[in-house]
Amino acid sequence: MLRGPLQEAVALVGVGKQFAGDAAEVPAADGSGMLPWTLPLHRSQAVALIGFVRTAAIIVLAAVSGMRASELMELRVGCRRPIEEPIPGMRRLRIASKVVKGQPLGGTDDEWVVIEPAYQAVELAEQLHEDPQHGALLFGRFSFYFRYIWFRNWINSPAGQRLGLAPIPEWPVTLRALRRTLALEMAYRPGGVLAAKIHLKHIAVATTEGYASRPGGAQAELLAEVNKHEADRNLELILAEFRNYQQGILPAGPAARDLTAFFASVDATLDTKVLAAPKTHNNDRDILNLLSKRAKVLHLGAANYCWFTDPSRALCLRLAGTPTAERPLIGMCDSARCPQATHHPCHRPVWAEHADRTETFLGQLGSTRKTERSRLQADHDRALRVIAEIDAASITDTEESA
Ligand code: SF4
Repeated sequence: MLRGPLQEAVALVGVGKQFAGDAAEVPAADGSGMLPWTLPLHRSQAVALIGFVRTAAIIVLAAVSGMRASELMELRVGCRRPIEEPIPGMRRLRIASKVVKGQPLGGTDDEWVVIEPAYQAVELAEQLHEDPQHGALLFGRFSFYFRYIWFRNWINSPAGQRLGLAPIPEWPVTLRALRRTLALEMAYRPGGVLAAKIHLKHIAVATTEGYASRPGGAQAELLAEVNKHEADRNLELILAEFRNYQQGILPAGPAARDLTAFFASVDATLDTKVLAAPKTHNNDRDILNLLSKRAKVLHLGAANYCWFTDPSRALCLRLAGTPTAERPLIGMCDSARCPQATHHPCHRPVWAEHADRTETFLGQLGSTRKTERSRLQADHDRALRVIAEIDAASITDTEESA
């Protein structure tokens, strides 16, 4: 009996949206200002939005933790371990799940050390769980392929664009690709291949796919890929430093003079070429050809570049008693003293943080701990000296004359 009048009323005035009528304001992702985090939603739209946010949580977790699909599916409500703080100011965040690949039926319990966004993603997924009982599967089985397409469509839709989110290109993304990208990013770092193996739980897989038992297996493939990326990255870095040199931003550190002389010789060669053929344009390819030999000996330290041209001059190898090794021992690097090290403006933040930290520790030391104090003081002085050298070498001629 009521159907008729109700239909007429709906046709006349429509249906109000029940959810998020008074949404809190958040900063837009593109920095264009504050705006409500959502427009009012119907129930079905609210349910869909929860799905998109849960997919976003899966993407964050996969991209920054490198967990496999099977490991993500084994996450449970309550998997966040209590936060540890072994050193004041340094927090350790862990989440628990199961390694399934290569393990006996049912998998093996394991933990992942993660950065804060991954930890928060789990917390958010727990809050959005329809029945967040402790121990319930957090995501359960899911098809990332479809979830990702729906997520991308939402980001690229007017709803996502309203929030200033950058559009996502159309190419496919898989959990495996995210894991591989993370492995490559980690492997770039000093000691990174080992770190990637451990973090991505490759240790068990190494027994079946490692170099020894299966040359050309996944590990060797990864290493070959890393080497190729490393070579490309080294060329980019040396080109950037050469451009800096041309603008008067010089390297600092014990090997600075050597590197500057090398850049000067490359510059002179380029000038000679231009004079001989005035129409020649010095594009990056010409310069890279001249820089490529030096790029091959570049190794990245956490706070310096290591130009490993002569093992007998490598301080780390001398300290380790292996003066003929073919690679530097970056973990033992003492770049303030080694004649093959340079410091550049990109290293300044690391030294500045080190100086701040040692200063804090010095302030906390009791007056009786004289040996520790003098060691820390020397460390602090060294960091300040390196920072001063980087600053002095970074002042361009224009800045000096201004
Ligand atoms: S001490 Fe550092 S800069 Fe010197 S060779 Fe070793 S890793 Fe390279």
